[in-house]
Amino acid sequence: MFTNKCKRCGGKVISANTNIEIETNGVLKTITNVPGEKCSKCGHIIVDNITMEKVKQYAADYPANTIDYAMCEAEEMVVIQTLLL
Ligand SMILES: [Zn+2]
Repeated sequence: MFTNKCKRCGGKVISANTNIEIETNGVLKTITNVPGEKCSKCGHIIVDNITMEKVKQYAADYPANTIDYAMCEAEEMVVIQTLLL
């Protein structure tokens, strides 16, 4: 899990949604609303590996250049719920 101190400067880390730019097949995409943590002192952004894997997956799955992480996750939930019915 997350530590509450920034690895870079030791500042306080707070929960924050962030935007991540990722290159997929030579196209730069922006993923918005990615859940993560951010240092309140230096602005260093921390996103865990599981979230990062999802970001990569969404970037590959959706054709848009700007992708809303929260929206993708909501759609994924709907798919899972449908499969369980
Ligand atoms: Zn920091």
